[in-house]
Amino acid sequence: MSKPPLTLYLAAPRGFCAGVDRAIKIVEMALDKWGAPVYVRHEIVHNRYVVDGLKEKGAIFVEELDECPDDRPVIFSAHGVPKAVPAEAERREMVYVDATCPLVSKVHIEADRHHAAGLQMVMIGHAGHPETVGTMGQLPDGEVILVETVEDVKTIAPRDPEKLAYITQTTLSVDDTAEVVSALQTRFPAIVGPHKEDICYATTNRQEAVKAMAPKADAMLVIGAPNSSNSKRLVEVGRTAGCPYAQLVQRATDIDWRALDGIQSVGLTAGASAPKILVDEVIDAFRSRYDVTIEVVETAVERVEFKVPRVLREPA
Ligand code: SF4
Repeated sequence: MSKPPLTLYLAAPRGFCAGVDRAIKIVEMALDKWGAPVYVRHEIVHNRYVVDGLKEKGAIFVEELDECPDDRPVIFSAHGVPKAVPAEAERREMVYVDATCPLVSKVHIEADRHHAAGLQMVMIGHAGHPETVGTMGQLPDGEVILVETVEDVKTIAPRDPEKLAYITQTTLSVDDTAEVVSALQTRFPAIVGPHKEDICYATTNRQEAVKAMAPKADAMLVIGAPNSSNSKRLVEVGRTAGCPYAQLVQRATDIDWRALDGIQSVGLTAGASAPKILVDEVIDAFRSRYDVTIEVVETAVERVEFKVPRVLREPA
């Protein structure tokens, strides 16, 4: 029986960003340099496939530093950590490597700078997400007020409305964040913003590609983990941009084929922590059921690369 035709729109850019690529390299190079086991505090990036692959090579994933022995290296995840974490590693004289994405570190530096200038911070971010926890943990308790929505902006009570600055999580929806920023500026006209916005290039580019692709597609799949903030935002952006069915899937086995019954086109993208192999797997799954024609929807070309920390570039 011949397969039905299907146009598969492939968003570009999609998948790994420079910060994720660097974080994975850091764990691999640490294993090469110091041998197994190397401890990693929190999932190095939010993707089970990546984490399981590193476990097989000898990485041990823990949630807190007190689960690590003093005499093995520990790596901090790409999302960043509160200042207390490296301070504790130093106190215990541990070898540690910080895989915080340089674009998250940039936000940490901004927060420090504003704090030094006497400003209280408002952080736009998701409560409990490790990046938010890490960024808020750069400053003493009470110095960062978290808001998630325009509604939250109405209820916050800063110390001095004239002395405020805002920062954001790097993986938010560009459009939703613009609304929250606008609400902050209306309520606190003196609030200071970042020089260049905190939402990173990878988040912005992946959302732009989805906006271009979603209106053409009968359905859209985002490959990513349920705890990956940037992946979940891509699903929301796809729905808002007009795709009637947008779903997050971790890999091909998660696809609900019944829900896709009758479609003639599908849009495919992947969050910044989803590896290419999972994208290929999903394309193959479509090819096994449909006569697939791939159309790349490219809205940007990325050439960003980050160096790994010097300690890993030096011989053991
Ligand atoms: S999504 Fe952005 S901030 Fe997060 S690791 Fe990737 S480049 Fe860095």
